[in-house]
Amino acid sequence: MKPLIRSLVPAELARLVAESGLPPFRLRQLSEWLYPHAAWQWDTMSNLPRNLRDRLAQDFDLAGLELQERQVSEDRTRKFLFRLRDGSTIESVIIPTGDHPTFCLSTQVGCAMACRFCATARGGLVRNLEPGEIIEQIQRLEQDLKAEPVPGLGGKQHNVVFMGMGEPLDNWPAMAASLEIMTHEQALGLSRRRIQISTSGPREGLELLLAAAPGVGLTLSLGGSDDAERKKVMPVPGRTPVTEAVDLAARYAKVTGRRATLAWVLIKGSTDKLEQAARLVKLARRGNFKVNLIPLNPLDDIDLERPEEKGTLAFQEVLTAAGIDTFIRLSGGRDIAAACGQLRRRRGA
Ligand code: SAH
Repeated sequence: MKPLIRSLVPAELARLVAESGLPPFRLRQLSEWLYPHAAWQWDTMSNLPRNLRDRLAQDFDLAGLELQERQVSEDRTRKFLFRLRDGSTIESVIIPTGDHPTFCLSTQVGCAMACRFCATARGGLVRNLEPGEIIEQIQRLEQDLKAEPVPGLGGKQHNVVFMGMGEPLDNWPAMAASLEIMTHEQALGLSRRRIQISTSGPREGLELLLAAAPGVGLTLSLGGSDDAERKKVMPVPGRTPVTEAVDLAARYAKVTGRRATLAWVLIKGSTDKLEQAARLVKLARRGNFKVNLIPLNPLDDIDLERPEEKGTLAFQEVLTAAGIDTFIRLSGGRDIAAACGQLRRRRGA
């Protein structure tokens, strides 16, 4: 398989043009075709000389995703199943959030973290996405929005969250490149403030993130308030002591000057106990954090349930009473299997 041309970071794209002996304006033209125009066929790049187009086509693919299925929920959430060039599939979602759309993106085909509550974990990790496959999700969703704006959102700029399939920090090189492409003026030009990485918090990944300090927001997914608890629910990330993961996230918050988020999945009888909320308060006090509570989106093959609303509110109250800003995040699109990885699983991929 050839690499996708959108896997090149802006400096690599510039080098490619320079090494081909082309004048700098060709770089601008090519970037315009790749990003603002979102071209998917070399032939559409009408102002580029044919021999340049041919040469690029020999070394790179221009498109890596093909829409296989699109579902629209009653709550206006849109879910996309994309087929990649090797036949594997990934999901991306557009979630209406207040006055703007949020794009929820995948970073891997499958995932190695084995979280008990997560549909993506079921088949294990298949492979990492390459940067171009991450970038292309954004562009495909942008095109979908353009063709059919979400009613009530009036063309507002979208946020991007890495909360789809996969563990972003388990695929850091591709994530780092994607962030460069997403934020570069001559590429997607997205503001860092609009980007959020969500991680289950494996130590090596958090250390890489901290060293790179890309300035985007960070959410650390917990699902356990001490090591024993966490290992039961999130076996692989649970290998990193929870205080260590939280402290790395706290350092990241400090370095970027942005409050980070602790995400907590609420599972009935497992992660909804008030003593866990009290321990979560202690964890949240280790840094500049807010807390998002995510009531479980139940899967169809495992006997885990979401707590009743009363239980969720009681859990929240322990945190808010302790002065921690705590929000309940209901997942969108439940009627269209929007829980992480569920659409893909139902289609037997
Ligand atoms: N691997 C990364 C990003 C993907 S999961 C991470 O763990 O953060 C994104 C978020 O969805 C995480 O907070 C995860 O705990 C949550 N999640 C996954 N499956 C869920 C489910 N069935 N119900 C509710 N939340 C879920």
